[in-house]
Amino acid sequence: MKFLSSPSQKFELPERIGRLGELATNLWWSWHPEAAYLFGRLDFDLFEQVNHNPIRMLKEAGRARLNQAAQDDDYLRQYDAVMQSFDSYFKKETWSAVNHAELTRPVAYFSMEYGLHETLPIYSGGLGVLAGDHLKEASDLGLPLVAVGFMYAQGYFTQRITEDGWQEAVNNIISFEDLPVSLVLKDGKPLTVSFEFPDRKLYAQIWEARVGRVPLYLLDSNVEGNSDYDRLLTARLYWSDLDRRIMQESLLGIGGVRALRALGYDPAVWHMNEGHAAFLTLERIREQVAAGAAFNAAAQATRGQNVFTTHTPVPAGNDEFPFWLVEKYLANYWGELGLSREEFMDVAKHSIAYGDVYSMPVLALKLSAASNGVSQLHGEVAREMWKFLWSDGKSNVAPIQHVTNGVHTRNWLARRMNVLLEKYLGEDWYDHLDEREWMERLDTIPEKELWGVHLHLKRKLSFYLKERVRDRWTAGGFHPVQVVASGVLINPYALTIGFARRFATYKRASLILSDVERLLELINRPNMPVQIIFAGKAHPADDPGKKLIQQVYHTAKRAENGGRIVFVEDYDMHLARHLVQGVDVWMNTPRRPYEASGTSGMKAAINGVPNFSVMDGWWCEAYNGNNGWKIGSEAKYESNEAQDAADALDLYDTLEHQIIAKYYNRDPKDLLSTEWLALMKESMKTVLPQFSTRRMVKEYAERFYLPASKSKNNAA
Ligand SMILES: *Cc1c(COP(=O)(O)O)cnc(C)c1O
Repeated sequence: MKFLSSPSQKFELPERIGRLGELATNLWWSWHPEAAYLFGRLDFDLFEQVNHNPIRMLKEAGRARLNQAAQDDDYLRQYDAVMQSFDSYFKKETWSAVNHAELTRPVAYFSMEYGLHETLPIYSGGLGVLAGDHLKEASDLGLPLVAVGFMYAQGYFTQRITEDGWQEAVNNIISFEDLPVSLVLKDGKPLTVSFEFPDRKLYAQIWEARVGRVPLYLLDSNVEGNSDYDRLLTARLYWSDLDRRIMQESLLGIGGVRALRALGYDPAVWHMNEGHAAFLTLERIREQVAAGAAFNAAAQATRGQNVFTTHTPVPAGNDEFPFWLVEKYLANYWGELGLSREEFMDVAKHSIAYGDVYSMPVLALKLSAASNGVSQLHGEVAREMWKFLWSDGKSNVAPIQHVTNGVHTRNWLARRMNVLLEKYLGEDWYDHLDEREWMERLDTIPEKELWGVHLHLKRKLSFYLKERVRDRWTAGGFHPVQVVASGVLINPYALTIGFARRFATYKRASLILSDVERLLELINRPNMPVQIIFAGKAHPADDPGKKLIQQVYHTAKRAENGGRIVFVEDYDMHLARHLVQGVDVWMNTPRRPYEASGTSGMKAAINGVPNFSVMDGWWCEAYNGNNGWKIGSEAKYESNEAQDAADALDLYDTLEHQIIAKYYNRDPKDLLSTEWLALMKESMKTVLPQFSTRRMVKEYAERFYLPASKSKNNAA
């Protein structure tokens, strides 16, 4: 491509390890733990201080230390090995090249957020982490994919909890020169795209990040020519005010298509990860209308290449705008599509209790040939929810399928666990990840070795929590009781339950606190201690979510829990990695059926951490009676209160009679619980192949991308 990305980062490195700079600027290192380790071992304390940022690490390690590394045989051996696997990664024949060589034009993937690594805070939760994992897997599989999103100047907020348990949001200014992104230039100047609102033009420049083979283009409105207000448009994720949201979504969908065009791309498939990007469907129609087509013909011609993934089973969670707001920002646009105001609104009209609104998922559903939910159950829920769009008398079945989510295995599997799997499943086990029979080899892992790795990971989590608390305590303004509530008394040998996710009310973080007295009795039994570690952020505008955090925090502060109920501040991908790898049980208590899929439980399961979850989302498909536990039943309840009460009762019973009993049922000779180790293995065996992005991205490729790339308009 004739475009130049201006390298924001310049490194002065000893020649022998000169390629560390190249390694630091491709996020490939983020899912190859041995590569991240290469940066870390330059100075572990500094690596923590710079939040595991390889670019800052190289800038701040100091010449003396770098020179020393360049002469350290052991370091060089590791350096050479990593660089060799980096090079062979880009040379090796990929799944896509072998199986689908006909897929040559790229798949364009649009998402409001991407969770790639904690140093690049352009994600808020599961949706973004899923998108990040999707890109990593597309790179592994060699799919020609190009992604579009936002470069948020302040990223997502840092969470602080006051002594009273109230969440405070700290907004950070991110310095892009310390990140693996570079500004896209053309003729020496930033390449920009624009969109015309009725009263002004909005501009954006484009940053490029490299995710292995996959380029990710990130729009940034902080440019000359924009007002101060517009410059802030891409400062944060999910503004609460609707003006900013519709402007952002216009920029993502319409500006994103223009950015790809300006960069010279001609994608064969357009994949929308959630409705935020749905305006891209209109922009592609506009291109054809500008070339002389009528709206309906253009809609028909472009539909076949659009793929839409919905993630929202809660009607209220869907993105929708009042018509007057759409008019305020898009009044110029419908003319360009050859539509009247009414015709334009009709395309995305959703009639709800208080009138008609402009619905982004309706827009995406109507203008995409392929749509899907993210688990089997969510597929059913989505078909039910949107069936009115298709009730034309002929059919009442919404053509919405499902592709169950997965996680990127190498991104979430502990380094030590990978070493163990290489030993017993074969050096090349990862090439066979989605082959169920291959995973049967897990049975050959000696119990003692699996438990040894697990205990190592538990200790690592425990030390990590204590170091975090130490930093907070040292920084000041932290009450001693907060030190206890943050996990300083955690015992790495006690049964530990993890619960970490966004604090949205439907996730019912406090379900396990419904009967605190019973819980306290259960966790404080002699010789059978139980610990519960909570973490998660609430959206800054979500007061009920913040109240849930406060309820958990108040319980964590009670002395009667013995420091065993803990809330850890500032959940992010790094903390997530420690938790899913280092607890014994992963708990999830959503109000069924509001969890579209959930993915953190998959991350835990592949690390040998069984799930203890409501039968919702992915768990309905994964639970087999031997790989974890279910909470509650699949019944429908008359009220939320009835559902909560039934689920809580079942939760306590299972915890007491199944989980605690099995965990502490140890053989007095080797102190191993055979029952527990069987659960761990079964959990890995069932979840590794099926709930990986390997399986998921292959499904998207074969069921959606390939047919879309062959659809009529592409073939023409
Ligand atoms: C995986 C992950 C999530 C998603 O968790 P759910 O189980 O889907 O709620 C959210 N945040 C972070 C940081 C994650 O790593």
